[in-house]
Formats: sequence, C-alpha cells, structure tokens
Amino acid sequence: MLAGLRKQVLDVSMELRRMQMARGTSGNVSARDPESGLIAITPSAIPYEVLRVTDIAIITPAGEIIHGNHRPSSETPMHTAVYRLRPDVNGIVHTHSLYATVFSVLNKELPVVTVPLATFGPVPIAPFRLPGSQALADEVARCLGVAGKSVLLQNHGALCAGSTVGKALECAAYTEEGAQVAYLAHLAGGLNPIPDEYIAVMRDISGTEKAL
Ligand SMILES: [Zn+2]
Repeated sequence: MLAGLRKQVLDVSMELRRMQMARGTSGNVSARDPESGLIAITPSAIPYEVLRVTDIAIITPAGEIIHGNHRPSSETPMHTAVYRLRPDVNGIVHTHSLYATVFSVLNKELPVVTVPLATFGPVPIAPFRLPGSQALADEVARCLGVAGKSVLLQNHGALCAGSTVGKALECAAYTEEGAQVAYLAHLAGGLNPIPDEYIAVMRDISGTEKAL
C-alpha cells in the first residue's frame, strides 16, 4: 500500500542520517497522499540504520494505524495536526539537528541571516511542551500558522513542512544551516539579519515554494 510514498519517507530518512541531522531514533519523517489523505510515517524506536520500507507505517489523518509492523512515530500528533491545518503541506520532517536545537535553547526566533531563510524566515519558536503530547502538536501547528514552512521547538529541535517530503527536507537543511550561521555570527561578534526591504523583494522574485 502506497509503496511510492513509503519509499519517499525512507529515502528522506536516510538522507537525514547521511546529512548528520538525525541520530539513533531521533527525528521523524512523514508524507501525505493528496488523493486519499493517508499518511506514511516513520515508526517509533527503530534506528535509521536498520529501517526498511516495510517499517514505514500508514495512518489515517486521525492517526489510526492502517498498515505497519511497528507503532508509528511518537510525534504522530505533531504531524497530523500540521496536515489538518495545512492542505498545501504534503511532507513533514522533524529533526533534533544540532544547531537548530542550539538555537531552540536560546528560545528566540531564528532571524533571516541567510539567503535561503529569506524565503521562509524568520523561523518562530514554539514553547516547550512534553515530546509526543497533543499540547506540543497544538503549539507547533499554531506557530507554523497558515503560511509557515519551519518552526523551532524550544529545547527540542525543529519541524519543517513542504509541498512534498523532499521540499520539507530542503527546508530542514536550510533551517539547520541558518541556525549554524546565526550561532557562529553571534559568537564572532554580531548577528545582522538581511534588511526587511530586501527580504520582501527576494520573496517576490523567488517565491517561497520555488526556492524551497
Ligand atoms: Zn523530537
């Protein structure tokens, strides 16, 4: 069932690991089939190095399991909350990538310090809630809003969304890069965002979806 969608989720999961943005069993990846509304999502507590396409679960928009050898990700409520809010989103990547997590500990939004961030930043920060809880899911969906692509989770990591799971991965990579640049610039003595008037022009030219 939905073999292509599950393969996309597996491929992005492996890419996250290759990019050193996911370790052990941390982070989770999902993709939604626009026609049926069904969601393919990584399983809970299976290390990436042994993950197979048959381990990827299929769930309904309400989070009920339709197919899978394992429980779906413990962060399933976060994924389903975003899909319910955002018909334009068909892929989600949640990471504990290092610099995005460092920035989340500062508990501040990530300003637009890099060119890719101009298309979807500044990145808001959702307040800390218990991992896997509906309260966290609600805060993440609220902070992502009706047009956002990326949100930091206080003392936890980041969640990135896209029209496909591949686009969500790109957004996660740009979020991590932006957080790393912001952190290093701050250490080096100054964190200067791109001026607002240029951000508006860059958004008009590239368009969020095209650039992501
Ligand atoms: Zn997490």
